[in-house]
Amino acid sequence: MSEPIKKIFGIDLGTTYSSIAFVDEYGKPVIIPNAENQRITPSVVFFDGSEIVVGDVAKESAKLYPNEVVSFIKRSMGEADYVFEYDNKTYRPEEISSFILRKVAQDAEQTIGEKVRDVVITCPAYFGINEREATRKAGEIAGFNVRQIINEPTAAAIAYGTVQETENRTVLVYDLGGGTFDITMIDIQENSIDVICTGGDHNLGGKDWDDRIVSFLVQEFQRQTGSTEDILEDPDTWQDLQLSAEKSKKILSQRDKTPISITHGGERVKVELGRNKFEEISRDLLERTVSLTHEMLTEAKNKGYERFDEIIMVGGSTRMPQIPERIRREFNMEPRMFDPDEAIAKGAAIYGWKLSLNDGLIRRIAEKTNRNPDAEPDIMETTPANIMEEVVRQMSEETGVTLSAVRRSTISINDVTSKSFGVVARRPNNSEAVFNLILKNTTVPVDTKRSFYTPEANQERVLIRIMENESTDKVVPVEHSAEIGTAVLVLPAGLPEDSPVEIEFQLNREGRLLITAVETNEFRKVTAKIETRSVIQGKELEEAMARSQSLIVH
Ligand code: AMP
Repeated sequence: MSEPIKKIFGIDLGTTYSSIAFVDEYGKPVIIPNAENQRITPSVVFFDGSEIVVGDVAKESAKLYPNEVVSFIKRSMGEADYVFEYDNKTYRPEEISSFILRKVAQDAEQTIGEKVRDVVITCPAYFGINEREATRKAGEIAGFNVRQIINEPTAAAIAYGTVQETENRTVLVYDLGGGTFDITMIDIQENSIDVICTGGDHNLGGKDWDDRIVSFLVQEFQRQTGSTEDILEDPDTWQDLQLSAEKSKKILSQRDKTPISITHGGERVKVELGRNKFEEISRDLLERTVSLTHEMLTEAKNKGYERFDEIIMVGGSTRMPQIPERIRREFNMEPRMFDPDEAIAKGAAIYGWKLSLNDGLIRRIAEKTNRNPDAEPDIMETTPANIMEEVVRQMSEETGVTLSAVRRSTISINDVTSKSFGVVARRPNNSEAVFNLILKNTTVPVDTKRSFYTPEANQERVLIRIMENESTDKVVPVEHSAEIGTAVLVLPAGLPEDSPVEIEFQLNREGRLLITAVETNEFRKVTAKIETRSVIQGKELEEAMARSQSLIVH
């Protein structure tokens, strides 16, 4: 009997829809439909008494119970002040997202008859440290072993890289989802997938196109009824218009016009929205994606990448015909629609599969060479080719996975950071500024150090303000940077003024930051824990974990 490969599931936790996939015994990524037999599940949560309802029913319930339904929670990930109150309890974005994760996982378990435990979850490339950490916490609250958080465009490129025939090409991934826009340049080679550069806006997505339709409908209602009332103040009308706007937008992807009816305060108004009008009222949104693409291309050029071979389009919103058409005009190249709704979950599943096969390879390398993989994180990369080939063969024989698939799992996948990270310190003129230690679009993992000096003698502690920004400059004004947390470094007694303190930032593959500081007089090394209010922790996390055991999710 061959040894089974542990399943690691890929979950696309989207702003508007989520989905889950795994790699089957033939090495093919497959989406697992939900209990309603849909391949994607609306990321909408309805608090219904003691039960939590996620998906289509929740989305429909928004009309009747607007105050009990939460949509677009992904846009609030990593927000320190977001809480949703229901039944005298407060819920943070991580916990609300955990309900979505549980729904897709539970339904998948029903279908395939296996427990979902190990997962890879995707997030926009644009997410910073806190949003990523919040995504990981959502998975942990849902009870998963979160193997890795990976970027959505990278996942799409992985899915793309495994289906295309020709290798060695540079592709642009234009990913316009429900709430986020990511534009990423990726170099796909036979043995590697390398992200070169990434850009975008995590507050630009299909929802903004919906909002334009909603505003248009409000104006039409006012024009036809002569009223000046803001009908969006009525939560029922607001929900109703949101749903009709999304429906109409989808119809306009197929047809030239669509009828829409608006009901408010006993009055009913009929409107016709044509595709031309829709394009006109949303043109600036599309243009913003074009200019963000150019910004990213300029950065890629600075890194020596002057051209690309292909544009692939993922994300449900690229179904709007004006999107590929505008991109074709801008770049004089036919963009390829690539599995817009499913590529990301499938890519995450393929990544999970790679991790699972790599676990097996690493175990066999360790046995063969007497090395300790815990002490050598890059054990695969440093294993000589002949031993690697032996281990690949052995693994293929023992698991029944084809030789080429096991070989393919050894390709390296390298991502970049979408943000710059630094600390606040004083300049020689005594004004404060952010000194970036890691610059945006650097390949991760990365490890950098920089020395700073204590301003006073006998200083007992240093408060490190950790900052995130999008500048590629080494020194940035504090107001152009967001504080993502603080860390306290306790110093040895009796240090003179101007004592050097070396601060080290290590950013790992999935964008987690580790901060250490070394006081260079006595070489005392301190690991500084990042304190932040933006990610659920402590008592709140414990409560969410405990609640997760008792709450039923449908
Ligand atoms: P994603 O986050 O990739 O699942 O994308 C979801 C977004 O795609 C939502 O804003 C949907 O309204 C939008 N979408 C899905 N299908 C279509 C379509 N046929 N035409 C226009 N937008 C669509």
